[in-house]
Amino acid sequence: MKTKALAGLVLIAMAQSAVALDEPVPAATTYIYAGRLLADPASGKVETNKTIVVEAGKIAAIRDGFVGVGNIVDLRDKFVMPGLIDSHVHLTFESGPTNRLDAVTKSAVDQAFDGVVFAKRTVRAGFTTVVDLGSEPQAINALRDAIATGKVTGPRIIAAGAVAAHGGHGDIHGYRQEILDVFRAPTLCSGADDCARAVRVAVQQGADVIKTASTGGVLSNTAAGLGQQMSDAELVAIVETAHRLGRKVASHAHGTDGVNAALRAGVDSVEHGTYLDAESIRLFKLKGSYLVPTLLAGDTVTRQAVDAAWMPTAVRAKAQALGPLMIDALQRAHRGGVSIAFGTDSAVSAHGENAREFALMVKAGLTPLEAIKSATVWGATHTGLDGEIGSLEAGKSADIVAVDGDPLTDVRRLETVAFVMARGVVVRAADE
Ligand SMILES: [Zn+2]
Repeated sequence: MKTKALAGLVLIAMAQSAVALDEPVPAATTYIYAGRLLADPASGKVETNKTIVVEAGKIAAIRDGFVGVGNIVDLRDKFVMPGLIDSHVHLTFESGPTNRLDAVTKSAVDQAFDGVVFAKRTVRAGFTTVVDLGSEPQAINALRDAIATGKVTGPRIIAAGAVAAHGGHGDIHGYRQEILDVFRAPTLCSGADDCARAVRVAVQQGADVIKTASTGGVLSNTAAGLGQQMSDAELVAIVETAHRLGRKVASHAHGTDGVNAALRAGVDSVEHGTYLDAESIRLFKLKGSYLVPTLLAGDTVTRQAVDAAWMPTAVRAKAQALGPLMIDALQRAHRGGVSIAFGTDSAVSAHGENAREFALMVKAGLTPLEAIKSATVWGATHTGLDGEIGSLEAGKSADIVAVDGDPLTDVRRLETVAFVMARGVVVRAADE
């Protein structure tokens, strides 16, 4: 009797949850009136007075003039362009004084809830697609899936599984042994075979892409420096195994030796690239790999090294030099013809401030249009989603951003977007 009643309750709960989920359903057809429209940043062509027709989360057509009746979004006084892509974020946390405690107190569920907040800030800032290059796997995968099914407001997430060396960047440092034994990730590795195993485990856990770290890191709480940490054989094993499983590989790398080792191993992108040299530039182009510069992370930690009392001493020394070095590295890479994908490493800087990267890229010598390309068409090619995102055309996802003024003359206009649509759902209305 008791069991039967309980079963009844479960059924009722299930029925309620099926209707109670308040998922945003895109209106049948939406007509967006665009005063100025940069539909395809690859061409750089700005058109005037266009209507973007949106149906079922996708762009159905782009028409001349202002046409259509019913659900109208009036952006006649705005500059309209594709949703932005940030190819390097960590959505489930933010850098700050409580990080070391958070690492051993926050469950995957806690981290997922934090991620809900940060995801909303990110998409409302105009970033409709992100690559998450290292968050707690259960948390980021659940967040990715909840956003994809419309339960949670956020950007489309490509989620990485992190494969890193024992004792290196990506491991945890400075805790007592018992803590390390509990919290060490199963995707840490030593030796080529073990690193192949770690890639397979990451894919098993749901990774869309593999993140590795060929060198030390600025925010690792260890004085190991920024040179190569993974062996050439380990890097080759990681890339080969990931590619066999249909996953791209992004490698964190600062020191010249580790940047070049990662490129020789065939990684799809190098993150940061702080000490890249002429040989790196040759290898980037030879292998078709992208540089994801993360200037905002450099700018942020260099500022924090001056005034953030919570920054560990081992971190502070590395952080001080970083910002200007990264700008110089991007300048050299860009002049040398390296493919660039926009990435901020947000979590180091606050989520939702991603667009501050644009002005730093312009400082490094990119034109505003080139910086915009790196966050649209180039980012789309880098992530392999160029059939879906990066430009506005019939059949692509309705990921649309609008700003006041002209971002092609003042790229900082992108720091305060006026309107955002993500997969056909308005997440920031123009009249907010
Ligand atoms: Zn990162």
